[in-house]
Amino acid sequence: LLEAAGISKIFGKLTALDGAALTVGENEFHGLIGPNGSGKSTLMKCIAGAEVPTQGKVSFVNTDITAFTPTERARAGMSLKFQITSVLPSLTLYDNILLALQAQSSLLDLVFSRTRGALHDQVMTMLTQFRLADRAFDAAAALSHGQQQWLEIAMALAGKPKLLLLDEPTGGMSLEERRVTGELLQPIKQHCSLVIVEHDLDFIRDICDRLTVLDQGKVLASGTVPEIQANPSVQEIYLRRA
Ligand code: ATP
Ligand code: MG
Repeated sequence: LLEAAGISKIFGKLTALDGAALTVGENEFHGLIGPNGSGKSTLMKCIAGAEVPTQGKVSFVNTDITAFTPTERARAGMSLKFQITSVLPSLTLYDNILLALQAQSSLLDLVFSRTRGALHDQVMTMLTQFRLADRAFDAAAALSHGQQQWLEIAMALAGKPKLLLLDEPTGGMSLEERRVTGELLQPIKQHCSLVIVEHDLDFIRDICDRLTVLDQGKVLASGTVPEIQANPSVQEIYLRRA
């Protein structure tokens, strides 16, 4: 589904990425891990088009998208949610989802769903899926931090993407909220792949099929969760951190 190869990104004198690569299959949950400053967010941005790589190539659904704008990538089926919020706090959850649906659907889709009266059902289905239906007409500002994150993930899924990119979605969440986040993400695997950046290794081990480990802008290892866990050089960078 996604293949990023030979990605380098240089900021002035700093080499943030040095020939990094990431391959993600269909219906695959892929974890991107590594120490602070190893280039995880930069790689996510290069994939989503929010940063232009100094070198390298990104293919998505067998198309070279290296020169695509973020909007063109979104249209091709890529969706990203970053640490920065996209929720409008003074609007209700319902209106936030509605806006996300409108922004991410083609005009034709919207016209059809309106004539079928299905737009309302679509909004409520998404809120139900993320356990937020009982809060539908509350202002988003009234949600807990964890619930706001879930609302954002729901919004990122509004356009039915083939690939969802999440950069530290569980940052600041309680253990219980993390556990629920894992549960909420599972069903999307039926129609969507995921690249997720997380520092919580237990969380990432539980939900991901494969992992890529970055260290100083390079891929240290990539493989299944058991392969990565058994990799001595991965263990070493995590020992170094501890
Ligand atoms: P963290 O785990 O702390 O989120 P990360 O793995 O996501 O770290 P990046 O944010 O990708 O790391 O940063 C990689 C390196 O690139 C860091 O040294 C960072 O300071 C640098 N960097 C990132 N963005 C920029 C920028 N826009 N301009 C200059 N340097 C940058
Ligand atoms: Mg980061």
